[in-house]
Amino acid sequence: MNIERLIVRKRDGHELSKTELEYVIKGYVAGEIPDYQMAALLMAIYFQGMSWEETEALTRLMVQSGQKVDLSHLDRMPVDKHSTGGVGDKVSLVLAPLAAAAGVAVPMMSGRGLGHSGGTLDKLESIPGFRTQLSLAEFIRQVETIGVAMIGQTDEIVPADKKIYALRDRTGTVPSIPLVVASILSKKIAEGAKGLVLDVKTGRGAFFRTPDQATQLAEAIISIAKRFDLPTTAVMTAMDQPLGLAVGNWLEVREAIDALQGNGPNDLVDVTLVLTAEMLRLAGKAIRHPDDLRPLLTNGMAYAKFRELVSAQGGDVSFIENPALYPPSRYHHTVLNEREGYIHGIDALNIGLLAMELGAGRAKMGDPIDYTSGIVLHHKVGDWVGNGQPVAEVYYSKTMDPEQIEQRILAAIQIDAAPIQAPPLILKRIQ
Ligand code: URA
Repeated sequence: MNIERLIVRKRDGHELSKTELEYVIKGYVAGEIPDYQMAALLMAIYFQGMSWEETEALTRLMVQSGQKVDLSHLDRMPVDKHSTGGVGDKVSLVLAPLAAAAGVAVPMMSGRGLGHSGGTLDKLESIPGFRTQLSLAEFIRQVETIGVAMIGQTDEIVPADKKIYALRDRTGTVPSIPLVVASILSKKIAEGAKGLVLDVKTGRGAFFRTPDQATQLAEAIISIAKRFDLPTTAVMTAMDQPLGLAVGNWLEVREAIDALQGNGPNDLVDVTLVLTAEMLRLAGKAIRHPDDLRPLLTNGMAYAKFRELVSAQGGDVSFIENPALYPPSRYHHTVLNEREGYIHGIDALNIGLLAMELGAGRAKMGDPIDYTSGIVLHHKVGDWVGNGQPVAEVYYSKTMDPEQIEQRILAAIQIDAAPIQAPPLILKRIQ
């Protein structure tokens, strides 16, 4: 078999067989197929798509690239949640300990920042000492003992996704339905989850912007998940403006800590409660309303579980208890509004791209991240803001033009004299 021939066949719209896909996945994980050829194949898949059979085979081969965790001995059902990617999306940081405190096991395998969107692993790694690369044995032991573990793809579990995900991040090949399906499901099947809740984002800051595209993605994931006996429910949520107010790794951890202590922004808390309730329903627990879970955020139980999780994975909990101890970024500016009125839009895509450039994401594969960099907004769509009032705080440590940063933030915030209602956040449920 020859990788160049397979690239050409996919480029020309042919279906690849299971044997051909096996050759690709095994060859890439073993380092025999170089990044440039794999990137060309991913781009061909991006344009030509994949059949259901190819998508299922790719998912299976990615699972088989490493070991599969068996959690069937647990006395609690292992259930997970995954987002299709957004800006300011720190839901997993709040949801995983909340769901564990509510009585399900959460064996969560996440990803790093992808394109303009942030990644749970980068956020967790902003906590000094936090290890996302647990061994398989450590991962299982932690889910058994404290009910939750949050890890990344490793050389033991889905190494194929670890490599392909990093390559897609920087090669414009993220928004491909078969690639997203295989990436998300390979992680969830390999980690041993027995139920999955999908947060399918739609809007400016999502990879699949229109509700139709997002529905297509959700239906594709649900239908391939069925072939692997993984019950999956999807909730479509709005990603036109960033979720919450903070965008950037440590800044988002701080906001998640606030949410875990009952003081989170409404949109972050609402999405988290809805998705957690879906996880509990998949596990057969009687939940009448997502609000039934709110007390766990106000009585300290979810926060205590988060502290336990951070400590179990080597993180320094002193920063969780007192976030003010965290070393600050070199530069901090407040951006002031130049025109009074109601906020009609906050462009999640441009805020995400700017946060990346400030240091919160990678320009090239393997680039280091500046965990303190990012943006904290003061408002959400629907709020009124006066002339000269602060609209955002910007944090960064590298040399950049502050004037340009300010202009980009102001350009991302659309202001109009007419009042506007806050747009709906939870759009639909797909099962
Ligand atoms: N999340 C993933 O894990 N993979 C994708 O491709 C997109 C979002």
